[in-house]
Amino acid sequence: RLNPTLNAFITTDRDKTLAQARCADEIRKVGAGDTAASLSDTPLNGIPLAHKDIFCTQGWRTTCGSKMLANFVSPYDAHVVERFAAAGMVTLGKLNMDEFAMGSSNETSFFGPVKNPWDVSRVPGGSSGGSAAAIAARLAPAATGTDTGGSIRQPAALCGLTGLKPTYGVVSRYGMIAFASSLDQAGPMAKSAEDCALMLTAMAGFDTRDSTSLERPAEDYSRHLNQPLTGLKIGLPKEFFGDGMDTDVRAAVEAALAEYRKLGATTVEVSLPHSELSVPAYYVIAPAEASSNLSRFDGVRYGYRAPDYGDLADMYSKTRAQGFGAEVKRRILIGTYVLSHGYYDAYYLKAQKIRRLIAADFTEAFTQCDVIMGPTSPSVAFAFGAKNADPVQMYLSDIYTISTNLAGLPGMSLPCGFGNAQLPNPMPVGLQIIGRWFDEARMLNVAHQYQ
Ligand code: GLN
Repeated sequence: RLNPTLNAFITTDRDKTLAQARCADEIRKVGAGDTAASLSDTPLNGIPLAHKDIFCTQGWRTTCGSKMLANFVSPYDAHVVERFAAAGMVTLGKLNMDEFAMGSSNETSFFGPVKNPWDVSRVPGGSSGGSAAAIAARLAPAATGTDTGGSIRQPAALCGLTGLKPTYGVVSRYGMIAFASSLDQAGPMAKSAEDCALMLTAMAGFDTRDSTSLERPAEDYSRHLNQPLTGLKIGLPKEFFGDGMDTDVRAAVEAALAEYRKLGATTVEVSLPHSELSVPAYYVIAPAEASSNLSRFDGVRYGYRAPDYGDLADMYSKTRAQGFGAEVKRRILIGTYVLSHGYYDAYYLKAQKIRRLIAADFTEAFTQCDVIMGPTSPSVAFAFGAKNADPVQMYLSDIYTISTNLAGLPGMSLPCGFGNAQLPNPMPVGLQIIGRWFDEARMLNVAHQYQ
């Protein structure tokens, strides 16, 4: 009933969903055999979720929000999809997203924008906007997302949800369509930190099919949820609390910090001196990697092919001209430019050096605190079209989230009240928590104690 308005789902398949649900139900009832016994034990068995349409799903269309893949049916499942199926979760469908995950508002999707359920004249955030809208409107209790520069945390913030981007390498990228491979990471989006912890436990783990997947012992991410926060040291980066944050966002974040002090935490000012360089560095590195990753969409191997063409070069060029949207083309152009001979040292290499300095800033800050907190997004959800005219304005929506990806650190967003209180629809504000590498269990505890 709500989806035609919200446009959160690109694909649903009632028969496939019901078949999977019946199977989960049988296993729960019968509970026989090894797999069945372990499945009936999992707390996720029989619970529905939906997948961002960047994850390959066998037998389902996987579009990545693009005309290029509008009719692509994957012959295999992504690692994350396999993991949730093995935990007994039931797939409700595939969720809308910015084209190839490039965007912060879901306005770049070939399948049309997703609406924010809190106020349908506003964006849900992006690129995992379909995931956020589906959960916020209660069309799904949980969803997968991916975060290259903020695409789990920013839509979670704008739609009043909890979402977590794990440490780079904790969740396998196998079967997740690549945007910027050194930054992309999959993570859970749900109503609470408790739900995200259950999902992360199912998603995480070593996978030989992703060369950047890390071989680490399995973790139960729910294990710390009930620990008190007494003695927790929260670092507040002075660069995150300067100009640029809207006053209503600031008020909500300050109120949440006051609550944390009541829960026994202390706050200390820290500094991330290179954070103002994170957006420029990201918009060199991410397009560079994207220009290389997206070269596979050539009309030959899979996806769209232009109907009329002359020779092979003409087929490539028409296919890509017709198959990709404007933002994707902009990124491919920037990426090939910064990687080209003569510009590589001036742009790409310099951005890589900044990336290392940004990671070093965090290492230094974490000598003074256990977690870092700040806003997830500088504003509440904005109106459709508000940032479309100037790409840089759109890019600045991720000013507080991008440095985490450049450093490979885990980051999450949780709801901390409302802004725009004077409007008919007050809009959710997100509080961001950034942790040390592999400190997801602590971050989930910190979020859960507040919730
Ligand atoms: N909004 C950022 C971009 O457009 C981040 C997207 C993402 O995390 N996938 O690149």
